[in-house]
Amino acid sequence: MRTVLITGASSGIGEACAEVLASELKYRLLLCARRLERLKELKKKIQSAYPTCEIFCFELDVRENNEIEKTWKNLPAEWREIDILINNAGLSQGLEPIQNGDIGDWDRMIDTNVKGLLYITKHTIPLMERSEAAHIINLGSIAGKEVYPNGNVYCATKHAVDALTKAMRIDLLEKGIKVTSIDPGMVETEFSEIRFKGDKKRAENVYRGLKPLSGKDIAEIIAFVLSRPAHVNINDLLVMPTAQA
Ligand code: NDP
Repeated sequence: MRTVLITGASSGIGEACAEVLASELKYRLLLCARRLERLKELKKKIQSAYPTCEIFCFELDVRENNEIEKTWKNLPAEWREIDILINNAGLSQGLEPIQNGDIGDWDRMIDTNVKGLLYITKHTIPLMERSEAAHIINLGSIAGKEVYPNGNVYCATKHAVDALTKAMRIDLLEKGIKVTSIDPGMVETEFSEIRFKGDKKRAENVYRGLKPLSGKDIAEIIAFVLSRPAHVNINDLLVMPTAQA
């Protein structure tokens, strides 16, 4: 059994990762996000399908380094060895030209997508050192490879994730920890509505005329990446809807 920690497991890609990995019957799941109720519902759903799947969920805001430190110190003994970290928690908020940008939105994206990922990684690496299948998966994005109109700060955070993934791969080589970046194009999740601050019409318009990916599409690819033999690492995967340019 391998223990997987998934950040942002309360919806979208993180939730789908929990479901897909549980279905493989070889993973134990540590799930965190701010919405604990959603995690508890997910745990119930997974365990009704796979009663032997061990799951521990807890509330966490990845922007709060002190909270992470405290939570990690207090993890139950049976959850203190982690094989796989999926750094998934993230958001885009306020797609506006930079001259109209909201500083609160910028702070939220930088604090969550970049600093949060760093804090979680820093505190989790010591718990991965005994694993023979240690693997960190970072959710990057097409926005970490290209810049699109009004994407400014979100694109900057995902370019930072891209750089951090490459840096982690170099730094963690000596510890034998694999590092992979999964970079999706459009995935239909709560992401789009959050990006437009609850404006459902604007959120739906993004997908007009094309079939987006689902969280499950990405989760299945992550399961494949994790299933490669020890000497094989998939460094980076750009995954796009067929119809997205
Ligand atoms: P969702 O909005 O569906 O999920 C985001 C998850 O992140 C939620 O579970 C949310 O949980 C969690 N989260 C957000 N902020 C915090 C925080 N401060 N602390 C802890 N958890 C947090 O979006 P997706 O599933 O689509 O996004 C997942 C990842 O994929 C993100 O990193 C995103 O940038 C990336 N991505 C998404 C794409 C898309 O088109 N959807 C495309 C490319 C990349 P809660 O609110 O309960 O805390």
